[in-house]
Amino acid sequence: MESLASKIVHQHFAIEATAQQMAGYGSLNFRLKLADQSRYVLKLDPSEDSADILHAENTVLQYLSTQANLPGLLPIPQADKLGNQLFTYQTGQKQYMTRLLSYIPGTFLAEAEHSPTLLKSLGTFMGKLDQLLLPLRPLAIERRRFEWDLQYCLDTTIHLPLIQDVNNRRIAAYFFQQYREHVLPQMPHLRRSLIHNDANEWNVLTQDGRVSGLIDFGDIAYTATIHELAVTLAYACMQKVDPMAAVLDISEAYHLEFPLEEREIAILYYLVAARLCTSVCMSAHSRHLFPDNDYIAISEAPAWTLLQQWIQLNPFDFERQLLVRCGFSVPALPNAQAMQQERQQHLSKGLKLSYPDPLILGGGALQYLYDERGQSYLDAYNNVIHLGHGHPRVVNAGQRQMAKLNTNTRYLYPLLNEYAAALTDKFPAPLKYVYFVNSGSAATDLAIRLAQTYAKRSQLVVMDHGYHGNTQVGIDISSYKYNGKGGKGAPKHVQALPLYDLYRSRGSVNDYLTQTQQMLEQLDAPAAFIAESVLGCGGQVPIPAAYLQGIYAQIRAKGGLCIADEVQTGFARLGTHYWGFESQGVVPDIVVLGKPMGNGHPIGALVTTEAVVQAFENGMEFFSSFGGNPVSCAIGLEVLKVIEEEGLMEQAKIVGDYFGEEMRKLAADYPVIGDVRGSGLFWGIEFVKDAQSKIPDAELAEAIVLGMRQAGILLGTDGPYHNVIKFKPPMCFNTDNVDQLVTKMAALLSKKSK
Ligand code: PMP
Repeated sequence: MESLASKIVHQHFAIEATAQQMAGYGSLNFRLKLADQSRYVLKLDPSEDSADILHAENTVLQYLSTQANLPGLLPIPQADKLGNQLFTYQTGQKQYMTRLLSYIPGTFLAEAEHSPTLLKSLGTFMGKLDQLLLPLRPLAIERRRFEWDLQYCLDTTIHLPLIQDVNNRRIAAYFFQQYREHVLPQMPHLRRSLIHNDANEWNVLTQDGRVSGLIDFGDIAYTATIHELAVTLAYACMQKVDPMAAVLDISEAYHLEFPLEEREIAILYYLVAARLCTSVCMSAHSRHLFPDNDYIAISEAPAWTLLQQWIQLNPFDFERQLLVRCGFSVPALPNAQAMQQERQQHLSKGLKLSYPDPLILGGGALQYLYDERGQSYLDAYNNVIHLGHGHPRVVNAGQRQMAKLNTNTRYLYPLLNEYAAALTDKFPAPLKYVYFVNSGSAATDLAIRLAQTYAKRSQLVVMDHGYHGNTQVGIDISSYKYNGKGGKGAPKHVQALPLYDLYRSRGSVNDYLTQTQQMLEQLDAPAAFIAESVLGCGGQVPIPAAYLQGIYAQIRAKGGLCIADEVQTGFARLGTHYWGFESQGVVPDIVVLGKPMGNGHPIGALVTTEAVVQAFENGMEFFSSFGGNPVSCAIGLEVLKVIEEEGLMEQAKIVGDYFGEEMRKLAADYPVIGDVRGSGLFWGIEFVKDAQSKIPDAELAEAIVLGMRQAGILLGTDGPYHNVIKFKPPMCFNTDNVDQLVTKMAALLSKKSK
């Protein structure tokens, strides 16, 4: 090919030069060196379809070459012997659209040291260029629809499935979803102009620490002007420890040359992300088509790293800092105390807030949360948002169904049947009937009603420290509540069994079983026994398998039903099993579900056997206005699919095992960590005064939770002594997040124990 390049310039330009092919895809590019050391670039485009685009590109470059105040060097199209700047070259079967351009010397931005001065000069250069491009509106360019024009970036979402790494794919899908929410509605209001659209690190040239030139106008677009800055930032922020500093330096300099509008600044965060997502989708597609071309993936790894950094930047802070740097006025930050006072005008103080200085949440992004005052948080506590905050698949499923139909179970619609089948498919055979409700509490309340109807009696057996719901029935069966502050003790028909705690209990499981047996013998025959597999509010205490099996046998021997509360432990959270009860080798008669089921959308359910359902079919209608509505079904179904397709149970196991290992190492260094227990993404870290006495240290646990919040990580305490830190993050939590958490906790512990 290189000899062909020399031949073309000899024939058409009467130039004698040696040619060297340069990396690239799309067109073939050659660097030509003449005897007098002068240089050119020859571009051969294999596609004839692009003639009008290439012509328009030449016209733009030609126009720019006549401008007096150019920001630096830009390629100039050269005319051949006949005066043509673009012609078709035929060789054998092949045709090439051929152009010769002047050569721009310099060091690529990719190879230069990115000082603030250099980054500012990049902003200045692009701002000046965009000013010069303002009068141009080439029709062929305006008509072109291609993926690299950010207004069409959603076209690249068809390549999302080609992204192999599930955690990366989720981030890309998340940002595309955010683009739909934040950018698309603004698109008609954005000013438009011709832009270069590809100031990447291999297109920008530098000299003496400043930007000196720009090449490759192949992606010029007539589009929203702000896309220029977004694209420039997307590349310039790669491989930076502090991408925000680069954003501010470049944007401010750009703004000084080409003043930004506030509405443009408001969407810039999402536009940069969208460009990165376009880039990774296109890389995935190209890699799929040409597995051997290394150049394709050239910016892929840094793009992923930047996306992972980007999602941790707070978009409220991003916008605010940019507005300030560009000289716009900004509103005062919201005030948590004022909001709290306002809240208490109409809401009871019984509605507790976490943290003395509560968070003001304005957004959530997978495992991260954004405070409107500017901080980002890693969420290590919210097990309700099972798949991640704003998970794009769940958001889409809910939005689509909401736009289509929402009704109730008195009508037929396929989604209800489909979801009921998919959900019950996750259970062992006898558990094949489901009632849909809207919360864990509604599910436990109904479970008790079903059990009492089935068994025709009312006595209930529960676990010490258990929690099952906020209805009257829920409180009556929750020792966490009736024995807690404001509680009135166990109602007459409720008997609590002692919880066998591997860390604190003295005696063996068998001792407990014997004690339990004696208690049960003195009781009237129970209607049901209800327990969580791992007691969440009780301080993440698992019930040992042998103990639970023994209790189930005794309850059943007395004709009672066994209810498993999987509100916290269900949906693969434990990493080893889909349901907690499976890890204990029991099969309940009724299972109650809630929290994670709708990824934050309020759905609950009760799954049970045919015999229990039949006993309840006594003529009285069971109806829930919202339970099983099509929107909830669409969301619930999507949650089940995502758990499967993202391999979240396996991920919970890997990340959870790693968390356990790291925490145990920390416990070895700090004996104030008395116990580390859990599995998957459901752990308790118990704090004590010292290992021997095991005296609970609620104060330390609380101080750690506060310190961690200060360090940007959300956790919480629970348990009868309030000394257990609970770790139950969204299931997309990864090993890097574990490292972040453990490092910060270690730093806190080393300070506290001094
Ligand atoms: N059961 C358990 C084990 C729970 O943790 C909870 C909520 N914390 C519930 C039931 C009640 O669920 P909801 O808050 O959805 O009513």
